[in-house]
Amino acid sequence: MDLQEADKHFIHTYNRNVIFTKGEGVYLFDDKGNKYLDMGAGIAVSALGYSNDEFKQALKDQIDDLIHVSNLYYTMPAIKASKYISDATGLDKVFFTNSGTEAIEGAIKLARKYAYLKNKDSRGEIIAMNHSFHGRSMGALSVTGTKHYREPFEPLIGGVKFAEYNDIESVKALVTDDTCAIILETLQGEGGIHPADNEFITGLRKLCDDNDILLILDEIQCGMGRTGKIFTYKYYGIMPDILTCAKALGCGVPVGAFVASKKIADAMIPGDHGTTYGGNPLATAAICKVFEIYEKEGILNHVNEIASYLVKRLGELKERHKDIIKDIRGLGLMQGMEISVSAADIVADALKKGLILISAGTNVIRFVPPLIIEKEHVDRMYEILDGIL
Ligand SMILES: *Cc1c(COP(=O)(O)O)cnc(C)c1O
Repeated sequence: MDLQEADKHFIHTYNRNVIFTKGEGVYLFDDKGNKYLDMGAGIAVSALGYSNDEFKQALKDQIDDLIHVSNLYYTMPAIKASKYISDATGLDKVFFTNSGTEAIEGAIKLARKYAYLKNKDSRGEIIAMNHSFHGRSMGALSVTGTKHYREPFEPLIGGVKFAEYNDIESVKALVTDDTCAIILETLQGEGGIHPADNEFITGLRKLCDDNDILLILDEIQCGMGRTGKIFTYKYYGIMPDILTCAKALGCGVPVGAFVASKKIADAMIPGDHGTTYGGNPLATAAICKVFEIYEKEGILNHVNEIASYLVKRLGELKERHKDIIKDIRGLGLMQGMEISVSAADIVADALKKGLILISAGTNVIRFVPPLIIEKEHVDRMYEILDGIL
């Protein structure tokens, strides 16, 4: 089995040139035994790193008990996981999905249903942001603000308009009587690591309250402790109406969720939405264990401590490579380095040197390491990246 063989049988939607076989802590190992320091965490997923014994044991135990029964029935892990999510978000009701994209689909459907119950003739318009990323299905793509992702697949769902992130006036200009929701990432990931201004988020909350519009926050990437709070909206002192979550929620077990207050969630009744696998006992046992380990190991405190170290070291790199590094920005362990050269080249070079980096767009290197990363790993990354730059 080699790369050529793999390329023959995969639809070519990704450029891949390594086969990973094992992981341990913050390291991955390829089929030739090479070791890599991972600053990407499987795109902000593997918050607990690789091969966490307690996490693995919980999954094995759940496999022994029960893997799947469908959503025609409750299971203990699903009930427990819904309580964890409810407590962490302050929102009442959850629907489990298999991915982030599906959480977005559900959030859009819920917003449309809520608007429909208020007014059957509502056109259910949605305002999304330029440079946003919400997923690849037809619905999620419809609210994704990158034209070249959308264009080949049009027509998408109608009634979506795009505003400028961090520009409240551009959002206000798009509001009509038919606007049912505003959707955005609390911290834009894929679009280049752009944190939201405080005035923008609080302004959106007020705009939504004044016009009876739902605020949908997508925290699929920036949630689950990555930025130093369990969810990033907690930095802004506001509540979303609907929240989407995935990625680190299952730390590698594919699972997502959309969550809403009771008033909004109750717009959906049996028959409105469904999923065969979503929130099955294996996936939700993973969620429960993730929350347990976060609590027990004080993950949020660790993120805040190590993030300030990462930011300090990235700042040093910026000082040393002023000609290449334009900006460092982000929150917690979700940092971006804007550069004047190709991010893809740096990523490829780093991989050869045993460092896994990922990009966000064409000119931003994205740092989203496992949340268990230590200072020594940051130092090792610094050395390799310094050499490359
Ligand atoms: C990754 C991501 C998604 C899509 O999640 P999938 O699990 O890949 O379907 C949606 N929104 C944001 C902000 C993301 O980072």
